[in-house]
Amino acid sequence: MRIVIVGAGFGGIAAAIELRRHGFTDVTILEAAPELGGTWFYNDYPGAACDVPSHMYSFSFAQRRDWSRLCSPRQEILDYLRQVVDEHGIRPLIRFSQPVASATFDEATARWRLSTGSETFDAEAIILATGQLNRPAIPGLPGAEQFAGHSFHSARWDHDYDLTGRRVAVVGTGASAIQFVPRIAERVEQLTVYQRTPNWLLPRRNHKYPPLVRALIRHVPGLQRLRRAFLFNFLEGLTLSIRHPRTVGRLTAWRSARFMRSQLPDPELRRRVWPDYTFGCKRVLFSSHYLPALRRANVELVTEPIAAIEPTGVRTGDGATRDADCIIWATGFRATELVAPMRVEGTAGRRLEDAWAEGAHAHLGLTVPGFPSLFLMYGPNTNTSGGSIIFFEEQQAGYIRQALAHLRDGAYATLDVRTEVEAISNRETQERFAGTAWTDCHSWYQDDRGRIVANWPGYMREYLERVRSFEPAEYVFTPVPAPAPSAVT
Ligand code: NAP
Repeated sequence: MRIVIVGAGFGGIAAAIELRRHGFTDVTILEAAPELGGTWFYNDYPGAACDVPSHMYSFSFAQRRDWSRLCSPRQEILDYLRQVVDEHGIRPLIRFSQPVASATFDEATARWRLSTGSETFDAEAIILATGQLNRPAIPGLPGAEQFAGHSFHSARWDHDYDLTGRRVAVVGTGASAIQFVPRIAERVEQLTVYQRTPNWLLPRRNHKYPPLVRALIRHVPGLQRLRRAFLFNFLEGLTLSIRHPRTVGRLTAWRSARFMRSQLPDPELRRRVWPDYTFGCKRVLFSSHYLPALRRANVELVTEPIAAIEPTGVRTGDGATRDADCIIWATGFRATELVAPMRVEGTAGRRLEDAWAEGAHAHLGLTVPGFPSLFLMYGPNTNTSGGSIIFFEEQQAGYIRQALAHLRDGAYATLDVRTEVEAISNRETQERFAGTAWTDCHSWYQDDRGRIVANWPGYMREYLERVRSFEPAEYVFTPVPAPAPSAVT
């Protein structure tokens, strides 16, 4: 069976390893970038790191005992991923600089055809592992194109542009901004941070592990496993807080408030960064360095909404213009437009974007009716606010492998999730958000209509339960098409 995976980030690599380990030999990964790593390749801003502990933000089958600190910096994560790729012989499967423009299902041959513009690839099954956070979002503010200075998005950091001694405007205060703001604040002349919505923060110092801790993790048998189990449950605790905002959530919010208060002695600054929505509704941020950076003499926090971009800087609603040499857009990603701009066409010429006209949805985030033998990794409703996305992707890879093994062993041509199965699982997923913090504000987890399309509504262990075994009864299997009658001679 020929399988093509789109994307060589954690998801695509997890799928490739799982398939290869189970006897699927014809696997190709098409990657748009010139290197592997996905989001970790692109997000190269100063201070880029993961705020999920590495013992959980790594594959269960490729655990390391030598992480330098609790939450690894970007380079360490990339090095890890490259090592895993090489250990499992995956690199030769990757075709770099191959941005897939379209994937079309041909009903006559029961095959997918993927086109990169310059090349085409045929496959019996495809796995779209392009992620949720791969397309930078830059707001279309009036006047932006007339800005005379320099500008770039945080996920496309311009390392050729030296920020030293410059007046820099940062728009956005999410997980990316809070990591690089403390770093660049030290070298710019003036830093203006434009905040639209404040965030709940929890501490994260992330010092290097002392040698004793490293030695213990390295040498004490079972400690590594214990640590992973502890972190798993710790992360599930964060989800517990989000799922129960009026009980456990209050306690965690109190913990966050105490931490934030300790970092903000100035009542005026405190007032301006204080969130007015339920803890956990937006992504909770982890940093012990961000709020102190806002107290620096060369840093100004602006909470007045941005009205327009002027040639010289940023104008806010009160009419003030603050000059800037450079604008850094830390404005996040087009997370709800999954797989775009790829054009995906299933049976009867139906486009995936049409199937998702009311917002993206898929059975367990993995399969969509009418798109046979197509799987999504990190698809709709599989993002996590409390867990590790690597855990989710590993489970998804296992599910896809089981599905394809069933296809192969039964000598079927395709599998297609039953419409009613997908509809029920989608409804159940949405119902499970009721009463949780996620529904209490607007966040990037929601589409324009306010439907949460990014996040899984529960715990990691629930997702594991749901995808642990592939259920053939939930799918329609089609036989291999009969060969065309040969011409009579
Ligand atoms: P984000 O969380 O979506 O934050 C975007 C920021 O830009 C928000 O503060 C948003 O304000 C603001 N914004 C958007 N449009 C704006 C506009 N027109 N005017 C003013 N402000 C505007 O993006 P991100 O910080 O890049 O993070 C995205 C996700 O990536 C995170 O939630 C996380 O899942 C992941 N991430 C993870 C890590 C990690 O350590 N694991 C690190 C970085 C990123 P509003 O809140 O008002 O929309």
